[in-house]
Amino acid sequence: MTAVSCTNPFLASWDTPYGIPDFSKVKEKHYIPAVKAGIEQQQAEIDAIIADADAPTFANVVEAYEASGAILDRVVGVLFNLSETDSTPALQEIVGQVLPMLSEHGDNIFMNAAFFAKVDALYGQMDALGLTQEQKMVLEKLHRSFVQNGVALDEASQARMREINMELSSLSNTFGNRLLAENNVFAAEFGVAISEYAGTMGVTADRDLRERMFKAYSSRGNNGGENDTKELIMKMMALRIEKAKLLGYENPAQMILSDKMAGNPEAVDSFLEGIMAAAVARAKDEIVDMQAVMNEDIAAGVLPAGSVIEPWDWAYYAERVRKAKFALDEEQTKPYFQMENVRAGVFEVAGKLFGLSFEKLSDIPSYHPDMEGFKVVDADGSLIGILLTDYFPRETKRGGAWMNNFVNQEIVGGVEVRPVIVNVGNFSKPVDGKPSLLTLDEVGTMFHEFGHALHGLLSQCTYKSVSGTSVPRDFVELPSQIMENWAFQPEVLAMYARHYETGEVIPADLVAKIEAAGNFNQGFMTTELAAAAILDMKWHELEALPCGGEHKCKYNCHVGKTGESFVEQFEAEACRQMGLIDQIIPRYRSTYFAHIFSGGYNAGYYSYLWAEVLDKDAFELFMQKGIFDEQTAMSFRANILEKGGSDEAMDLYRRFRGADPDPKALLRARGL
Ligand SMILES: [Zn+2]
Repeated sequence: MTAVSCTNPFLASWDTPYGIPDFSKVKEKHYIPAVKAGIEQQQAEIDAIIADADAPTFANVVEAYEASGAILDRVVGVLFNLSETDSTPALQEIVGQVLPMLSEHGDNIFMNAAFFAKVDALYGQMDALGLTQEQKMVLEKLHRSFVQNGVALDEASQARMREINMELSSLSNTFGNRLLAENNVFAAEFGVAISEYAGTMGVTADRDLRERMFKAYSSRGNNGGENDTKELIMKMMALRIEKAKLLGYENPAQMILSDKMAGNPEAVDSFLEGIMAAAVARAKDEIVDMQAVMNEDIAAGVLPAGSVIEPWDWAYYAERVRKAKFALDEEQTKPYFQMENVRAGVFEVAGKLFGLSFEKLSDIPSYHPDMEGFKVVDADGSLIGILLTDYFPRETKRGGAWMNNFVNQEIVGGVEVRPVIVNVGNFSKPVDGKPSLLTLDEVGTMFHEFGHALHGLLSQCTYKSVSGTSVPRDFVELPSQIMENWAFQPEVLAMYARHYETGEVIPADLVAKIEAAGNFNQGFMTTELAAAAILDMKWHELEALPCGGEHKCKYNCHVGKTGESFVEQFEAEACRQMGLIDQIIPRYRSTYFAHIFSGGYNAGYYSYLWAEVLDKDAFELFMQKGIFDEQTAMSFRANILEKGGSDEAMDLYRRFRGADPDPKALLRARGL
C-alpha cells in the first residue's frame, strides 16, 4: 500500500491498552481514506468468498463474512461515536460523505447475486448442517439482509433500491444536523440546553416564559427556513413506502416488524391502544389535581380568573402537586446524587448482581476530558471489557443519553475480542464549585444506559453480528430498563446515595418520599410516550402520501411555513384518533422525532413500552426472590445478558423467567 498505511491509524489494529481506539492519533483527514480502504478490504474479502471453488459451508461463507471488514469496523466505530459526542462542521461534512459510501457498499454486498447464491444454498439446508443455535441465527440474519435489500428484485428495481437507500441515509443524516442546529437556537434563546428543558419547565414560575419556551421547544424543525425538517420527513416517508412496496410489503411498518418480537403492526397497535387508554384516564385525574393548585394561584391573584391547565403548565404544576402531595423537592434530593457517587452505586449493584468489579483506568487514550475509562473484571479475575463514560453536555454533543460500541465482542480465528463500550449522557454539569448533582430522572437514565453497557460487556457470543446489543429492537431495551428498577430501592439507595458534602446516607424520610412519589405523574409520562409510539406507527403504516412525495403538491407537503403542511395535518389527525388530550403533546412531535427520522427507530419507538412489559415482568421475579438473589441474577446474566441475539428473544426470555411475560406487568408497575 501507499504511504497512507504508515500514518493512518485506522489501517492497523490499535496498539493501545485493551484495544481502545487511539484517539490521539486520529485526525479528521484519516476518516475518508480509511473508509475507502475499509470498503476495499471488505469487498476483496467478499470477492474471495465468492471465488472459493469449494462447495459452500458455514465456515467458508458465513464465518468468513463475519470475520471480514476489520478496518471498516474500526473507522466506523470511531467516526459515528465522535460525530455524536464531538460533532464539528468538518466531522458533519465527513459523515455526509461517508454515509452514501457505506450505503453503496452495503448494497454491493447484499445485492450481490453470486454471494447470495452461496448464502441461499446454505439457508436451504440449514437443518442438515449441524449448526449451533447461534450459527443458525447468524445465517438467518445474513439471509434476511439480502432479501430485505432486494436481492430477488429485477435489475431496474435493484437500481432503484440503491438510490432509495442512499437517499435515505443522507436524508436522515441531514435531519439530525438540522435538529442539532434547532436545539442550539433554542439553547441560545433561553439559555437552557434541550436536555434541561423538562427540568426547567418544572421550576419556571413565569407563565409567559413557560409558554414561549413550550412553543419554541415544540416547534423545532417547524419554523420554515434552512432548519425546517418537514420536507425531509415527506421525502423519507415517500422513499420508505416505495422501498416497502418494492419488497412486497404494504407499508414500512409491516416490513420493519417482520423480524421483531412483535411480528406485525397489528400486534403493536393493539398493545399501544391498551396502554394509551389506561394512561389518558390517569392523566385526566392528574389535571384535576393540578387545576386545584392553579385555582389557589388564581385566588391569590397570581393568575387571572378562568385560567386552565395548558400544555406549558404541566411540568410546573405537576412539580407543585408533587411537592404538596409528597413533599418531595428535587433540590432536597440532588445533594445525595453526586454523579460520581451514583456511578459508584451503579457499579456496586453490578458487583452484587453479577460479580463484576470496576477499576478506574488513567493511562488510556481519550477523546475528551469528560471521558473516563473503567476496566470491568469478572469474579474470577478475567477481563470482561472496557466501559467509557462521558456524562456532561456540550454544544458539540447531541441531546439524550445512549450506549455505543467502539469494539464489539466476538471470537475471530479462535481469539476472543472483549468489547469497548461507551455510555454517554447530558447530565447536570458541575456549576459554581458544586459537583455534578443529578436529578432523579438522570439517576434513572444512568442506570438505564449502564444496563445497555452490561448487555454489550457481558456478551459471550462468537459472531459479532449477533453479539451484545445486536438483538431485535423491541428486546434491546430489556437489559437497560430492568436496571432502572434497582436505582431507587431503599436497600440500593443506602449503598450509594450519600450527601456530597457530609457523606451522610440519604435519610429514611427522603427515601420514603422518593418511593411514594415513584408513580407520580405516570398518567402524563405514559401518555406522552404512548402518543409518540402511536404517531410513529401511524407514519409507518402509511401506504401512500397524498402527493406521492412530489414537490409543490396541493397539500403543501413541502412548504416550510407552518399552518397547513401535510406533516402538521397528519400529526393532528393521528393525535385525535389516538384520543390524546389537548394538554399533552407526543413526547416527540414529527418535526423533531429524531428516533424515527434519524435514529433508526422507525416503527420502533414502541419498543420502549414493549420491553417494559418484559422488564417489569422480569423484575417481579427479583422482587419475589430478593433483588440481589444470586440465582436469579446469574440466570438473567446467563440467559439474557451473555446471549446477545444468538437465540430467539422470546426463547431467551422464557428460559430466564420460566414463563411468558405477563402484559399487565407494565400497567401494574406504573400504577395505572
Ligand atoms: Zn435504552
